[in-house]
Amino acid sequence: MSDIFVIVEHRLGEIRDITFEMLWKAGELAENLSHSVSAVLLGHEVSSIAEDLSDRADQIIIYDDERLKNFSADLYKEIIAGLIEETKPPLILIGSTSWGMELAPCLSIKTGLPLATDCIDILSENGRFIAQRQMYNGKIFANVSFAETSGCLFTIRSGVFPKDKIGDRQAQKIQKGFPLIDIKPGKTFVEFVETAAGDVDITQAELLVSVGRGIGEEENIALIKELAEALNGVVSCSRPIVDKNWLPKYLQVGTSGKSVTPKVYIAIGISGAFQHMAGTNGAGTIIAVNKDPKAPIFRTAHYGIVDDLFKIVPVLKDKVLEAKKG
Ligand SMILES: Cc1cc2nc3c(=O)[nH]c(=O)nc-3n(C[C@H](O)[C@H](O)[C@H](O)COP(=O)(O)OP(=O)(O)OC[C@H]3O[C@@H](n4cnc5c(N)ncnc54)[C@H](O)[C@@H]3O)c2cc1C
Repeated sequence: MSDIFVIVEHRLGEIRDITFEMLWKAGELAENLSHSVSAVLLGHEVSSIAEDLSDRADQIIIYDDERLKNFSADLYKEIIAGLIEETKPPLILIGSTSWGMELAPCLSIKTGLPLATDCIDILSENGRFIAQRQMYNGKIFANVSFAETSGCLFTIRSGVFPKDKIGDRQAQKIQKGFPLIDIKPGKTFVEFVETAAGDVDITQAELLVSVGRGIGEEENIALIKELAEALNGVVSCSRPIVDKNWLPKYLQVGTSGKSVTPKVYIAIGISGAFQHMAGTNGAGTIIAVNKDPKAPIFRTAHYGIVDDLFKIVPVLKDKVLEAKKG
């Protein structure tokens, strides 16, 4: 029996959802393949985190040291590479997050193990792991497998697996000492900065009118604001709108923005990139307006209008105002 490794991601004492999602998938694979699941936890004063994982893995391998208080890809890489060398796990799962995007490539180089990034599923065939990935903005699915290898690294997209427990597990906790490594991290942690709260909280809104790059120019955002007002809703947006400084960051929906749970989510001029849609998993009805019939958002939307937003939005607004009057 060999171990599937899940590298535990946590921040400010809280386990990130991606960890639970990876443990779910690892648990499912382990059950089918008679493997066990090891959660690999690096940090400082992490006993409560370990406790929260105790019924989700067969073992928790813990490196608890003050030098690991904040995430450092340099230190993580050295420590995990040593553990991989010692235990030879067939599969190592890392979140496709800002942590994982830094850690996984350097761990792959350090260990020589192949890496598949941003996987949306993992299959197995004759003892080999196959990563499923999306290409061309979600238009193509690719199954990726590697030539003969002792193990492989997969980074996992957030939100593709459930956060639930799987199987009946009671983890054995294995405390490891900080290894003798001579490394001075190239980066120093400075501080955590929380996103500004803002005047409106899009996570509480019942109806969101969300605007994307299809709006073209900053002055056109007024159109979206008018529609949102007519509907008694709140404006939110995709990341390019924030990057252009047209709307504040606290209105951004998605993996690097907020997850929202409105009853109705109207996406206007938004293509439907997974980083955006991941923030809408908890939304009720999704309505998309996009002039491209092949836009990925139409795969998720419950209702779609394929047309120019500049034609549709004013008509929608007038209809809503008429209905309100009548
Ligand atoms: C690490 C990382 C994190 C990210 N986090 C986020 C995040 O949190 N949130 C987020 O949104 N993105 C995020 N992104 C960016 C994401 O990958 C996409 O680039 C982004 O969501 C695209 O925004 P968009 O749909 O507004 O723009 P585009 O992809 O450019 O889409 C614009 C759409 O508008 C349509 N359109 C154009 N003109 C019109 C018109 N006149 N009428 C109707 N439709 C029209 C087009 O057909 C197109 O589909 C992240 C990316 C990375 C790498």
